[in-house]
Amino acid sequence: MRHTPIEGQQIQTLKAFYALMAQTRELRLAMVKDLYAGATADAADIGSLKNALGSLEGIPGSGGRFQLKLDAHREIEVELDYEINELKKDILYLERGEAALVTHLEEIHTDFRKHVDAGVAMLEGKKFNAFITDRDGTINNYCGRYRSSVQSIYNAIWLTRFAERCCENPIIITSAPLKDPGIVDVSVNPENKIVYAASKGREFIDLTGTRRSFKVAPEKQQILDQLNEQLKALVAQPEYEKYSLIGSGLQLKFGQTTIARQDISKSIPAEESRAFTEKLTGIAAELDPEKKNFRIEDTGLDVEIILTIEGDDGLKDFDKADSVNYLASELGLEMSRGPHLVCGDTGSDAPMIDATMAHSKETHAIFVTNEEELRDRVMGACPNAVIVPSPDMLVAILNTLAR
Ligand SMILES: [Mg+2]
Repeated sequence: MRHTPIEGQQIQTLKAFYALMAQTRELRLAMVKDLYAGATADAADIGSLKNALGSLEGIPGSGGRFQLKLDAHREIEVELDYEINELKKDILYLERGEAALVTHLEEIHTDFRKHVDAGVAMLEGKKFNAFITDRDGTINNYCGRYRSSVQSIYNAIWLTRFAERCCENPIIITSAPLKDPGIVDVSVNPENKIVYAASKGREFIDLTGTRRSFKVAPEKQQILDQLNEQLKALVAQPEYEKYSLIGSGLQLKFGQTTIARQDISKSIPAEESRAFTEKLTGIAAELDPEKKNFRIEDTGLDVEIILTIEGDDGLKDFDKADSVNYLASELGLEMSRGPHLVCGDTGSDAPMIDATMAHSKETHAIFVTNEEELRDRVMGACPNAVIVPSPDMLVAILNTLAR
């Protein structure tokens, strides 16, 4: 079936760039739905993806860095590796087929086949009760800007195939929000095949398509709502709009708000970024003078304002072990029954292994990392673990298992 076309266009602003990426999301979602149902791709749709690719490649720049207007006064330089490479992979997949894409992956990654074989050998023939995975950097290649991290077509087909054929309860747990913008806006998996658990699992869409969320004390929710209103008003001012466009942008998560103060390319002058951070902490302090409700983390790129929840040792914030346990009870996963598969790419994903192992020792893990410390942490927590250096290898493992 042929879908709404994407025309070639001249992209000059960051806003126009996001609008184009949103078009590719709509098209990819519609195409995946057809392809997953057994249709072949329409040449006109592939042409639309090529137009999108050409439009991205036509943005002025050099050496893999592109210039976009951030506001009337300022240009920023962005890398578009993720957006361009994933479009190229999709076009290759659609025009020349899965084997050609796999050959391409073998060419761009050292020891691709070796890593895929190791993962397949560990997991072959298993049907998982819970498949619990992080998204960014794990099953999806890493993209510096969340809003343009649109899932590629081949990725959605491979992941959904695995979810449907090899898992009873496939769940993506992400720290990003659910939508507007959130995981729903950048995903193109067919509906109701995978649980999207956003904000570290505290808000999720289950396999019937119902949105559900964690209960938070109303007075705590109210203070976070007030904070969010103030931040939305802040980035509506022309002077501050850029912070909603760069890096993480403004993300209103369940129980947590993230706002960018800088991006990887350091588009904002250091002094201006520092002053903005002070403004943010000032707003939070005014709403929570006794620091009972918010904990603030400054990653250098983002300011995270986190609502604290009651834990065993007083106030603590929600981690991904809490996510697993919350979802296990909400979704009735009966996790004492394995096997399970847990996938992640950072230290903050490791608690998902601990929580899952506490339910059943029949737990397997695949982590995407090149860091020795995380590798040791994963291998120490889970005897049945495989480490791979790239998300491409992980999704290829899952697709191989599903075939
Ligand atoms: Mg990640």
